[in-house]
Amino acid sequence: MARAAPILDGRAVAADLTARVAADVADLAAWGVTPGLAVVLVGEDPASQVYVRRKVAETRRVGMRSIEHRLPASTDQDTLLRLVDAVNRDPEVHGILVQLPLPAQIDAAAVLDAIDPRKDVDGFHPVNVGRLSIGGGLIPCTPLGCMMLLDQIISDFRGLNAVVIGKSNIVGKPVALLLLDRECTVTVTHILTRGLPEIARRADILVVAAGSPGLVRGDWIKPGAVVIDVGINRITDANGKSRLVGDVAADEAGHAAWLTPVPGGVGPMTIACLLSNTASAARAGLRRQAA
Ligand code: NAD
Repeated sequence: MARAAPILDGRAVAADLTARVAADVADLAAWGVTPGLAVVLVGEDPASQVYVRRKVAETRRVGMRSIEHRLPASTDQDTLLRLVDAVNRDPEVHGILVQLPLPAQIDAAAVLDAIDPRKDVDGFHPVNVGRLSIGGGLIPCTPLGCMMLLDQIISDFRGLNAVVIGKSNIVGKPVALLLLDRECTVTVTHILTRGLPEIARRADILVVAAGSPGLVRGDWIKPGAVVIDVGINRITDANGKSRLVGDVAADEAGHAAWLTPVPGGVGPMTIACLLSNTASAARAGLRRQAA
């Protein structure tokens, strides 16, 4: 039986962060503020429904206000933009999350652009995307969660080789910027990258966000590397059972220093960071009022 890599437990780190957010929410109550998160769900995509249910439950668990807006799949762009405008102006809403994907008739970029950047707890608004490259702003939840996991085990990032597999706007690119900000030497790769196994093998930190089950094999991983597996893929195994797996062949990664499991790694961090961003947005609102 192959040796397993030590597990970097996202559930434990997320529980710790969630407890700190709950304490922050209690502290904000003393100032008469209850952080409010508005979640907008358009249509009935089953995966989106599960994500939204989880986000709403966690929001309430830490004592925040959860405001849900469920709209039919046939909703047009103007109706959605009017709703975004209303929650932008609602003083009880500190964070706004529009669950993606949106139905085809809606221009998702236009909707994200319409969210007040100060309430953009997903960190997808162009203002926050721009701020990320110069420091500051609301940071997208999954990349922020990846960095918090790395912070558990790495105290000095300077000069480390970091390789990011995947260049999406929501994971790959922002995580690469955050690693660069810590003075790693960062290589960003994607589906057309040539010689990916050799590039991956140079990584002290390997972040994998490709959405390709088992893409990263054991011989892509440098001994002693820290591997963050962002991928969430549902597969059906030989016994016909469906289960979630990551982008890393975990059973071949025993020589890694640390590996995040799937499930139970980056996933729980994403929700905890959403709560943390909402509390930060509420605190920033309070500071603006006081100024
Ligand atoms: P995406 O489809 O937008 O981007 C995937 C990226 O990976 C692209 O840049 C593509 O070029 C690259 N890629 C795909 N196949 C590749 C291959 N064979 N070799 C090299 N590069 C390859 O996906 P995304 O939204 O960034 O999500 C990536 C994965 O992370 C998915 O499995 C998704 O479910 C998961 N995810 C998890 C969380 C979480 O909370 N844990 C959050 C967001 C996304």
